[in-house]
Amino acid sequence: PVSVVWLRRDLRLHDNAALYHALKSGRPVLVLFIFDRLILDILEDRRDRRVEFIHKHIHQLNDELTRLGSGMIARYGRPIDVVKQLTEEYTVADVYTNYDYEVYAKERDAVVKAMLAERGIGFHTSKDHTLLDRDEVLSGSGSPYTVFTPYSNNWLSKLGDFQLKSYPTEAYFNHFYKTTPGPIPTLAEMNFQPVGESYPEPIVSAELLQNYQKMRDYPARTGTSELGIHLRFGTISIRDLARQAKETSPTFLKELAWRDFYFQVLDHFPHVEKHAFRREYDNIPFRNNEAEFDRWCAGETGYPIVDAGMRQLNQTGWMHNRVRMIVASFCIKHLLIDWRLGEAYFAKKLRDFDLAANNGGWQWAAGSGTDAAPYFRVFNPTLQAQKFDPQGEYIRKWVPEFNNFGYPPPMVDHAFARQRAIDTYKRGLAK
Ligand code: FAD
Repeated sequence: PVSVVWLRRDLRLHDNAALYHALKSGRPVLVLFIFDRLILDILEDRRDRRVEFIHKHIHQLNDELTRLGSGMIARYGRPIDVVKQLTEEYTVADVYTNYDYEVYAKERDAVVKAMLAERGIGFHTSKDHTLLDRDEVLSGSGSPYTVFTPYSNNWLSKLGDFQLKSYPTEAYFNHFYKTTPGPIPTLAEMNFQPVGESYPEPIVSAELLQNYQKMRDYPARTGTSELGIHLRFGTISIRDLARQAKETSPTFLKELAWRDFYFQVLDHFPHVEKHAFRREYDNIPFRNNEAEFDRWCAGETGYPIVDAGMRQLNQTGWMHNRVRMIVASFCIKHLLIDWRLGEAYFAKKLRDFDLAANNGGWQWAAGSGTDAAPYFRVFNPTLQAQKFDPQGEYIRKWVPEFNNFGYPPPMVDHAFARQRAIDTYKRGLAK
């Protein structure tokens, strides 16, 4: 009999909780990855950076495993079908995987677990993507936190050496199932075309961490790590990163607390995926004007900082955090577009798209979420640009035609839009 480790958003052999438990099971370990067609087949854009990134890393894992006398099992299909088929090809004793916080993933895992249980096969999940999860950080009354500051204080007090320790998988690398590697589905077989993009290495320099607090709010600077995509797909270990941050940058560590915070919000309050965390915010009568939404998407609002952000997103799949806050606020408050439409656009485009953080960011901007900005606080995009891009360097990089005289006028006046947003919210909340 064999043990199977099913990788999903943890594409590494180093310091991987599920892999560690599989390797310690005493049985030879098969490494499985499923290109999930329930997710992939509905992606609109057939040149997708995330798919290309995953595909590249599956090849890298396969190379590493081949050097160890083993290989990846990588298949394209529905998870339930692929896992079932595997149990017919091998005598599987147990399946190990890392816990996932998304609604779809939890349902998928429950179905697979039930199917395996019928066959007498165990299904084990471990915490791996976060530092602290589920019920590890609860308030004094035992309920999940909905405000960040008390959460992060408690989180920090619980973040001991144990949570930061790497799983020593390398010590058991002779436990992989000895096999010749099988074929890996090509992008073309899954109906995708390559994008041909390269990404920053999954490392962060001591210098960046040291300067992080000072630099992170200025979009013209390389002040943030751009590790989002690696954290999304587990090509860097959160424990390795947090250990490094704990030594050098409390501010960076706090961002990792935000990341855990939003995972636990999604885990405990799954309704946030489709609804406002504060239910009464589902009643805001958004305008949802399609032509205006299209101008926002294209980066043609007449507000240079908003346009720069959207063009950076469209061209590279990434946008600086400060600018994400500005464009999200503009979309929701200035244009009165339902935050879920903006959220969905980001989900399509962001290479570091992660449902928990994206939903948290959008609900924050809408004022509808946990720890959200009060709805009557409306970012002034012009003042934001003056403060965070004082020389206009970021703007000129992404909006080269920008100069003070020739740029198209703002599509909506700030003072007017601000008042309209406040009135509309008031009306919705009074319902
Ligand atoms: P760094 O500043 O180097 O931070 C390091 C890591 O910490 C990030 O990679 C990320 O994993 C985590 N992190 C940092 N800030 C946050 C935060 N506020 N919430 C949760 N985690 C955080 N982040 C995503 O990972 N995926 C998303 O889809 C996403 N959508 C967002 C949408 C909106 C509207 C807003 C306002 C923010 C969103 N964020 C999202 C959070 C944040 O903007 C990005 O994590 C960050 O910009 C990524 O760049 P970086 O890797 O250089 O971050």
